Amino acid sequence: MSFRLANVAGRAALVLGDRSVDIESTTDGRLGSEAGQLLSAPSDLSELHRSLTPAVPSSALDETILGPPIPNPAQVFGVGLNYANHASEGGMDAPDLPLIFTKFRSSIAAPNAEIQLRSDYCDYEGELVVVIGPGGRDISAEHGWDHVAGLCVGQDVSDRAVQMAATPPQFSLGKSFDTFGPIGPVVVSPDELDDPSALHITTRINGELRQDGTTADLIFDIPTLVSYLSHVATLSAGDLIFTGTPGGVGVAQGLFLGDGDVITTTIDGIGTITNRCRRLPDHPYAATIPAGWRPAWKASTTDD
Ligand code: ZN
Repeated sequence: MSFRLANVAGRAALVLGDRSVDIESTTDGRLGSEAGQLLSAPSDLSELHRSLTPAVPSSALDETILGPPIPNPAQVFGVGLNYANHASEGGMDAPDLPLIFTKFRSSIAAPNAEIQLRSDYCDYEGELVVVIGPGGRDISAEHGWDHVAGLCVGQDVSDRAVQMAATPPQFSLGKSFDTFGPIGPVVVSPDELDDPSALHITTRINGELRQDGTTADLIFDIPTLVSYLSHVATLSAGDLIFTGTPGGVGVAQGLFLGDGDVITTTIDGIGTITNRCRRLPDHPYAATIPAGWRPAWKASTTDD
């Protein structure tokens, strides 16, 4: 299977170079306009891709109208501390089993979405996002890739204050503010990539390189994550797995996101998502966070 799938103004489309082809209209309705559903049979998309000729009606790809390629996933999983250099920058040991949290699907946003900050403790986490194709349960790691329809770029934006407000920390809400999960720009089928297990990933803030890693360094690789999750929750087409972030996040350096900051996240072979931050008024609960608050792992170290 081989394809690049986008959400163009709310409709699933195949991307061919700088053109896009609307899937539903090209197939006279045989295939639908909703990406999640299409991914239950990724071979249909590959077949369509192969059958397209230059004569097929297409549009110039307008990146400003791209939506999240999977606009309405049933489940969105996140993986914490899945790169050794990120675990150590937080003063944590690498986990023995995948550390899983959820991002609620209302956080999913377009590849060029504005990120709405509600406190001064928001942070970036550039991540490779796995998109499930054929679903299943109790999947072996050996067959993990068979259930992956594609890969895309994501940001696991995190309000560290909310994330660390409870003891033990509660990751899910702090990572689930609206707009905190931009994904895209397209979903790329794994066979489009030279090596889908070793992808170069970078995050820049206002052009400054902050994260520079490779997914070859994932502690729990993609097939392992698919297998692990599927032994708990049945996976279905369009489910997303944010696979974790490499070292270089802001909180470890005392650098948080502010109004106007631009986050640029790139994975070679997939593409780039660009998200400008806007500082909205505090949410009412932010006021309960004490001035000078810092992450628990920092508070226990000697001052800096
Ligand atoms: Zn993350």
